[in-house]
Amino acid sequence: MKKCRVFSGMRATGLLHLGHLAGALTNWVKLQEDHDCYYSIVDWHALMSNYADSAETGKFCKDVLLDWLSVGLDPEKSCIFIQSHVPQHAELFLALSMIAPLGWLYRNPTYKEQIENLQNKDLSTFAFLGYPVLMAADILLYRAEKVPVGEDQSAHMELSREIVRRFNHFFGGGKEILPEPQTLLTPTPKVPGTDGRKMSKSYGNSLYISESPESMWNKLRVMITDPAREKRTDKGDPDKCPVWDIHKVFNKDMGQRAEIDKGCRTAGIGCVDCKKMLNAHIASMMEPIHERRARYEKDPNTLDDILANGAKRAERTATETMSDIYPAMGLISRADRVV
Ligand code: ADP
Repeated sequence: MKKCRVFSGMRATGLLHLGHLAGALTNWVKLQEDHDCYYSIVDWHALMSNYADSAETGKFCKDVLLDWLSVGLDPEKSCIFIQSHVPQHAELFLALSMIAPLGWLYRNPTYKEQIENLQNKDLSTFAFLGYPVLMAADILLYRAEKVPVGEDQSAHMELSREIVRRFNHFFGGGKEILPEPQTLLTPTPKVPGTDGRKMSKSYGNSLYISESPESMWNKLRVMITDPAREKRTDKGDPDKCPVWDIHKVFNKDMGQRAEIDKGCRTAGIGCVDCKKMLNAHIASMMEPIHERRARYEKDPNTLDDILANGAKRAERTATETMSDIYPAMGLISRADRVV
């Protein structure tokens, strides 16, 4: 039976953290068992907001690749590649931009939010406005049926679906040239960072996947807890504690969790005790991940091969899609286009 096609991507903006692991990657690793998965390190997307500071984008691609492989994305099972290595992403982006209405793009809530929040960057560019058009191209190039994303990407997914409907309307003559992708929402709570806000690289509050156990503990040790619990003898409220939120994501020992909950509320245990238990769970979860990372790190040739093979495989599928799109749009497809 033909496996369901999945596409997802992450921007090449540097090392990934435990929020990425819980909010996306754990699910991606599961999906590759029974889906036909395409996972792309989207460097063009990274440039759309980081064009003024682009020198490290290549290094960030390698960082993401190593993080992905270390958590268990498997190049034998999934097609893993860098977006810019498959030029059809840029080609389909252009094709879709013919029919992408400016009104839709200006109304995109993420666009408005980022323009307001990232005031240290000039994001009033043609490319940044077109961010969701490139995302639609990424997905449609592989005719992906499902796209695993977090809640924060829902608006972009809806735009992708509207763009494909409009594309089919203009160029399909009633036929579906490209399928409408479905959103596969990853049901994970927001993982907080060490300051209690959403874990995010730009807040400097992240626990990184590649972080050593010592460094992880040094961050956890001083992490913010229930602010009302100032002294060891004060009773705490786990519901107001970001350390507890992380326990709920990574500590699978429900018996221990019940004990911690009670111990916190009665001041039976202190915050350091609670953090030590969390640290132990994270450390044991990270052990195989760090082992895998060390193996890959020793072998840069393998990393290059993975990227080369991934790009080749992705390009085959992308070429097939483009060879349907050219005639639909009234263009002459190159006769020697290799499929
Ligand atoms: P991008 O990789 O596009 O820059 P982000 O770095 O914000 O986007 O994260 C990519 C995905 O990882 C998000 O869509 C979300 O699913 C997940 N993610 C990121 N940070 C967190 C977090 N703190 N908690 C839960 N999930 C997160």
